[in-house]
Amino acid sequence: MRTHATCYDDLRQYIASVPIIDCHDHSWGPGGPYKDPLHVVLNGYFPSDVYSVAGPSLCAQIQDATKPWEERWKLFEPVWKLCRHTGYAQCVRRALKLWYDEDEVTLESLKRIESRLPDYGDDALVDSALERAGIVKRIVDGVPLDWIENAINGKPGLCPRAVFTIGLPFWHDIRCAEDIQQRARMARMAVTNLDEYLAAARKCFEVLKSKGGVTFKDQSAYKRAIDYGNPSKSEAETVFNRIISDHRKALGYPDELRPLDDYLFHQFLRMAREMDLPVQVHTGHMAGNWNDVRKANAALMQPVFELHQEVRFDLFHANWPYSGDVLFLAKNYPNVTINFCWANIIDPIYTQQMMKQSVSCVPHGKIHGYGSDLAPILEHVLAHVEIMRDNVAIALSQLVEEEWFGLDDAKEIAEAWLFSNPNRFFRLGL
Ligand SMILES: [Zn+2]
Repeated sequence: MRTHATCYDDLRQYIASVPIIDCHDHSWGPGGPYKDPLHVVLNGYFPSDVYSVAGPSLCAQIQDATKPWEERWKLFEPVWKLCRHTGYAQCVRRALKLWYDEDEVTLESLKRIESRLPDYGDDALVDSALERAGIVKRIVDGVPLDWIENAINGKPGLCPRAVFTIGLPFWHDIRCAEDIQQRARMARMAVTNLDEYLAAARKCFEVLKSKGGVTFKDQSAYKRAIDYGNPSKSEAETVFNRIISDHRKALGYPDELRPLDDYLFHQFLRMAREMDLPVQVHTGHMAGNWNDVRKANAALMQPVFELHQEVRFDLFHANWPYSGDVLFLAKNYPNVTINFCWANIIDPIYTQQMMKQSVSCVPHGKIHGYGSDLAPILEHVLAHVEIMRDNVAIALSQLVEEEWFGLDDAKEIAEAWLFSNPNRFFRLGL
């Protein structure tokens, strides 16, 4: 039998050669510019851990870019020592190593990188960094409104190697007449009732699909519990008509608006079915601090998965920290897949364990292994990719060691998770 090290090394080397489809990212448009070298460290998701250990006041002082960074380093250094072993901190350390060849986060190392801060406005630099990371395509989320309007009326540009998501909350989280009219203007349609509103949304969705939209995306879990009810059209119409009949009126969020919000969500899922587009759903942990993860547990959406059996749902962030719930959903429902975007650095050990466990209970054809979930900060993307490769290699090499399957099977699964599954699921045709 192989030693663990040999098996891991073989697999890790193979995984480094597999092209990656980044199943969720936020790199819309150029990134940066960096204000100073500390900004490289206090970027991506790591500031949440700084906030978590230092608290709001000290964290704000550390991030106050109006003060010289060397002064703020004195505040940050003792905090770094308290949070430098999390997944996010690992991402920072690897970013410094991979991009700047620095082994540690120190005052001296930051002084050395100060003159080498990249300009992400340069598309060629972005493209070469993606090449180095092995990312052949990325599904970019957070398309700006002006870009959508340009897409509907003309010919917009896209960032390198990108296709994009069509955001749903913008269309069902509507709270007043102006919200409705803003979306009507976007579609260049008159909207005076619920049916006309749905037609305007459908028109925009069709245009966005034709311009490179490959999936819908919904991140309502940041604001509301994802336990969608199934209200009747007349309940939704009552709310819609109350809003639109008086432009001075704003209904209470979320309770008063909920029949409309929930009804529209279901209608958009029917459109997803008709347009043959999957629906990516934010589940599990949320960016920032002070949010309530219970309302984001994928288990709350079980009735939705049962109702919309012909809609393909891609559940994000490995539903952290509710792995058992999402493993059940993906095992039980043919219309549910698991997406490990962001999870690889939220909690690398959770990810390794859940990836390993998923092999024994969820068909491996239903796993999407990677998503950067980052703004355009390529040092962090490179680091995130490397951590993900480690996670996949650790999970699958352990199964080889335990004789669950052979090394070739492990390689086949890794390739499926990183490339073949998302290529097929999102109809990318690569
Ligand atoms: Zn995201």
